[in-house]
Amino acid sequence: MPSNQPNVSRETSANGGTDGFADTPIAAAAARASEILTPGGTPPLPRPASTRIITVANQKGGVGKTTTAVNLAAALAIHGLRVLVVDLDPQGNASTALGIDHRRPDISSVYELLLGEATLDGAAQQSPAHESLWCVPATLDLAGAEIELVSLVARENRLKNALNAEALARHGFDYVFIDCPPSLGLLTVNAMVAAKEVLIPIQCEYYALEGVGQLLRNIELVQAHLNPDLHVSTVLLTMYDGRTKLADQVAEEVRRHFGEKVLKTIVPRSVKVSEAPGFGMTIIDYDPGSRGAMSYVDAAREFAIAGAATDGAAR
Ligand code: ADP
Ligand code: MG
Repeated sequence: MPSNQPNVSRETSANGGTDGFADTPIAAAAARASEILTPGGTPPLPRPASTRIITVANQKGGVGKTTTAVNLAAALAIHGLRVLVVDLDPQGNASTALGIDHRRPDISSVYELLLGEATLDGAAQQSPAHESLWCVPATLDLAGAEIELVSLVARENRLKNALNAEALARHGFDYVFIDCPPSLGLLTVNAMVAAKEVLIPIQCEYYALEGVGQLLRNIELVQAHLNPDLHVSTVLLTMYDGRTKLADQVAEEVRRHFGEKVLKTIVPRSVKVSEAPGFGMTIIDYDPGSRGAMSYVDAAREFAIAGAATDGAAR
């Protein structure tokens, strides 16, 4: 992603580099970090007229679903928007990245929510990262839920019922991101029934579009039978490596396929992004001045503005 860094270095060389410390890459990163963490100077992001519920789906594993869900959520939360992440993957990676200890035996999780044994109030936990960022964690119990759900009444509507408008309004959530497991089973169907929008992260790698056709067919099926409002609203290109021709070819192909739905911001491949969850953090908190953090902040801004343009929301 272009940043203002090249300008800084050009000025430095033009005046012989006498500006000293203020123009160093570290100082520039620190300045960007403080701008990102206290976005007072930037224009506020639009607050949606009603809660936007977004399913982050792609049945391929490792394409950046979880990373995208938690980092977009964190980027919106630092702008003061109230955001909930529903962790629908038994691995619980989204819960971990949001600093929630999902291995504690006494917590209510998305499993209890789906089975009707807990309400949103009981299962949602505030992330230590930010006061307006919340998470319904996943525990390993969820691995069995796919089978347990089969025999339940309204098995495809369990999550939708738990995330009812009244419960969401009580918390004042502006955004709900549902982080899906890498499959198209009953958990993902629950997510697609509960949401209006699907966000598809696509990795700029070989076989990027593999399986996307099947995902789109499933979305059409859910739309036809269970949730007429469901649509793909956003595609985000992730793990872009500018050194490879392949990444550009993939990006071009995805743009040909999805057109305007593809965010202009592309998330670069960056070691920092992959390190952050190991510290129970999003990249926004782990290294706010990094390219990875900036790309998610930019993507969140584009995503919020594009959504406001389509639902007429205003702040
Ligand atoms: P998914 O949820 O689709 O399985 P993840 O978000 O867990 O994918 O990402 C898969 C792996 O790639 C994780 O280890 C994650 O930390 C790493 N990763 C995600 N995005 C990036 C990125 N932009 N740069 C480097 N590593 C990334
Ligand atoms: Mg994941």
